[in-house]
Amino acid sequence: MTATIIDGKAIAAQVRSEVRADTADLVQRGITPGLATVLVGDDPASHVYVRSKRKACAEVGMEAWDHDLDASIAEQALLDLIDDLNADPSVHGILVQLPLPEHMDEQKILDAVSPLKDADGFHPYNMGRLLAGEPVVAPATPAGIQQLLVRSGIETAGAEVVIVGRSNIVGKPMAALLVQKRQGADATVTICHSRTKDLQAHTLRADILIAAIGRAHAITGPMIKPGAAVIDVGINRTDEGLVGDVDFDAAKEVASAITPVPGGVGPMTIAMLLANVVTLADPSAAPSGSPDAADDNGGNSGPGSDDDDGDDNSGPGSNDDDDNSGPGGGDDD
Ligand code: NDP
Repeated sequence: MTATIIDGKAIAAQVRSEVRADTADLVQRGITPGLATVLVGDDPASHVYVRSKRKACAEVGMEAWDHDLDASIAEQALLDLIDDLNADPSVHGILVQLPLPEHMDEQKILDAVSPLKDADGFHPYNMGRLLAGEPVVAPATPAGIQQLLVRSGIETAGAEVVIVGRSNIVGKPMAALLVQKRQGADATVTICHSRTKDLQAHTLRADILIAAIGRAHAITGPMIKPGAAVIDVGINRTDEGLVGDVDFDAAKEVASAITPVPGGVGPMTIAMLLANVVTLADPSAAPSGSPDAADDNGGNSGPGSDDDDGDDNSGPGSNDDDDNSGPGGGDDD
């Protein structure tokens, strides 16, 4: 069997064009969706990812505000900036690029971003809504994977989905999305991790196998059920270049469909990030009981209350035109 290649670039382009149309619609209604990106320090890879996001914003007609800060900036100064962005009605999404310098408490910084401006959907408020089956925004990478499955015609209802990796940015929200009682979900989901006994026994059951491990070629051909759909989230820099978590050459002989690296999941992350910003900018998308609802600022406050001290958060997320990755990860291709 030779697997169909799931073209993440093409599907991401489709999503971006939908986002462009939604953005134009909002602009007509007097709202220009805007994403503020915050980059601290000189990490070259982070610069690449952030530049890509900013470019992608411009391409779909969104505003993008760039905050490039010196690595030596005090943590409090960064918190103050996030407070300002939380209070700025023209800013609908905030993204703090990881990694942050060592003298900063990363979680504290991320927690400072309002959940109503949480472009990556990592805030506990948004995670909670996702788990409850009422997501406002979902983390960009798993949301992108769900779109890849749906738009490739891969049936999730009743499917055995095995996710290898239990991170808060990929594995857990992925499971939460696919287990929901709704279209594009309704799957039977198993999450595996480094303590899983007999990983292969699980992966061999998977109709849809999602690898988010961060180890080059950790998923080999014999671990894949013939005819399975294989989604490779991994981005690993090796001597051979950028490779995924799946041994692609072996897997494509067993699977029925597979995502390449690069050009699979990566491009979807930025597309879904943009989609999240549109959602956050659209007042009609505000959920009932959301922290903001009547917030004149265009929405931002802590779960259950608006806050001036900025104690919420968003995740980073990252990417670039061709591929990308989540917080702290990413690729430059
Ligand atoms: P984390 O390092 O946070 O999580 C890795 C997970 O894999 C952990 O749950 C870990 O288990 C599990 N794991 C590690 N080794 C094994 C093993 N031998 N067997 C089974 N499970 C194992 O990674 P992320 O979720 O942040 O990212 C995963 C990969 O995806 C990375 O390569 C990253 O760069 C990429 N990525 C790509 C994105 C994209 O847009 N394309 C976006 C985000 C990430 P345990 O919890 O027990 O340690």
